[in-house]
Amino acid sequence: MVHIVGAGPGAVDLITVRGYSLLQKADVIIYAGSLVNKELLEIAGEGAQLYDSAQMTLEEVMETVERAEKGGLVTVRLHTGDPCLYGAVREQMDWMDSKGIRYDICPGVSSFCGAASALEMEYTLPGITQSVIITRMAGRTPVPERESIRSMAAHRSTMVVFLSAGMLGELSEELKAGGCSPQTPAAIVYKATWPDEKVVRCTVGTLAQAADQEQIRKTALIVVGESVGRRDTSAPSCTILNSPRNSGGKNQFGSRRHVCGGYGTRKQGADDGPGPGCAGTVPGDCRVYGVCGSGPGVFS
Ligand code: SAH
Repeated sequence: MVHIVGAGPGAVDLITVRGYSLLQKADVIIYAGSLVNKELLEIAGEGAQLYDSAQMTLEEVMETVERAEKGGLVTVRLHTGDPCLYGAVREQMDWMDSKGIRYDICPGVSSFCGAASALEMEYTLPGITQSVIITRMAGRTPVPERESIRSMAAHRSTMVVFLSAGMLGELSEELKAGGCSPQTPAAIVYKATWPDEKVVRCTVGTLAQAADQEQIRKTALIVVGESVGRRDTSAPSCTILNSPRNSGGKNQFGSRRHVCGGYGTRKQGADDGPGPGCAGTVPGDCRVYGVCGSGPGVFS
């Protein structure tokens, strides 16, 4: 039996419980060495055979799977993030189908979710956009013309661009050609959830320069759209910031920044104005819609 497992975006404790236990049971683990956190391999039992697929051709990966199957072994094919995005799993599943090899898929936390957490943002902000476009610049893998960055940019949805950190000048031009102003908020998230994660906030016009300054060329996601800029840091913070439960700037969820962070007074949608009774009325419940008085969709 083969389990295709999503390893999560990087942090070892972001693999799923199911993925963890499959790793414990595995006799053979074939992992995508370029992006999978190698500490995950420590979950495996002593005798597990480990193969880094970055050093292998597809044929070699498949031969390894077939050998393991013949020996009645359990194989984990460990992919970064969630296997369904840019995971090249289709060809592996087709091959296993052709050989009659049984497999299943265990989802993982994709890096685009890791990037949102690093940015402390919501991709789908009411009044701004309700869609997220996950895409990439064409590279060795072509992208259909109808899905070019410029045509996707025309939607003004939040965009999360994979596999393109080395092409930010071109990405910027494409976004502008699609009608994004150079001032459109953007962010580069390098190695989301890893210990050396970096978050760089910039604009569509300064993407390449910002990446150069931080020397980011790979393992990054580019997030673009008005939702990236929706963080009202100028608004006064909720009184909950001073609550004993939140001393040290940490909220009850242990977040680095207070969840209300001024959002209690943020304008809802276009201009509903400040929400009355923000946080101070119900300390600790700032995140519950309505508590800050402005109704659903107000908080990040
Ligand atoms: N299946 C993976 C994506 C694999 S494609 C997923 O769901 O995340 C590899 C690309 O994903 C990288 O080039 C980079 O653009 C992005 N990526 C993967 N892990 C990342 C991370 N921790 N931080 C930022 N980008 C990451």
